Amino acid sequence: MTVREALHQTEQKLKAARIRFYEVDARLLLAHCLGTTMGRLPTLFADPVNSETIRMLDALVTRRAAREPLSYVLGETEFMSLRFHCDARVLTPRPDTEILVEAVIETVRARFGEGDSAGLILADIGTGSGCIAVALAHALPAAEVIATDLSADALDVARANAALNGLEHRITFLQGPDLGPLVAAGICDRVQVVVSNPPYIPERDFATLEPEVVEHEPHLALYGGEDGLDGHRRILGELSCLPNVEVVAFEFGFEQEGLLEALTKSSLPGWDVSIRNDLAGFPRAIIATK
Ligand code: GLN
Repeated sequence: MTVREALHQTEQKLKAARIRFYEVDARLLLAHCLGTTMGRLPTLFADPVNSETIRMLDALVTRRAAREPLSYVLGETEFMSLRFHCDARVLTPRPDTEILVEAVIETVRARFGEGDSAGLILADIGTGSGCIAVALAHALPAAEVIATDLSADALDVARANAALNGLEHRITFLQGPDLGPLVAAGICDRVQVVVSNPPYIPERDFATLEPEVVEHEPHLALYGGEDGLDGHRRILGELSCLPNVEVVAFEFGFEQEGLLEALTKSSLPGWDVSIRNDLAGFPRAIIATK
């Protein structure tokens, strides 16, 4: 079988499994098995594919056809141009979250320079894969980053991702709910920036989720209670334990903007609050500054 024939077969299998972007997924899976990139794949079209590669491809295509997320099947994804290992222990880093991270980087640079005001701590609450914490540590070379999560499994992935990007010495990982780990570590008075992408899928939307999400991603990372804002509410409610916090930023989902803005303004009276839209034009991140 040639590379071109293997690609055609893979496309047909993924199309039959109703994978939305089956042509792109087929190219990425085949390129992965051949140890090349999607861009270089066409230069190999006439080459034969050996039986070991076919076996590997079959195994990955079977997983993808069962609607496992592409990031888990490939074992990694890109976020803010950095590489992240991903598997079923964590939510896949998404382009939407880049909006949140970019907004925080801009705000921190404007307020604190490159993050080098003495002892500045940025806390990423519910770090999951570690994508936010790692991207912040990468962009703000003088800042200290704390990453927390309730899940010990998620923290293992986040630690591995910090190491994958050479940033393990810049990030401290703490286990526990919401702001609890900051209190337990006795560092509350040094935290100036809090960022979080809490679970925000409301109960009523569970039924509308793609199988990739609902059947494969960790439910702890997805579901945010009746209106989806339980996590945001808990963090906002605990902020009084951080006497020097100046920047608070959250990601949120569809139609949550009004309620979250009201909750944020009432928890942080007098602060400036602004909203950023995602690439599809939907409100996606909220930034509050003192
Ligand atoms: N902080 C991680 C992310 O943004 C995980 C978020 C989550 O699990 N809800 O992808």
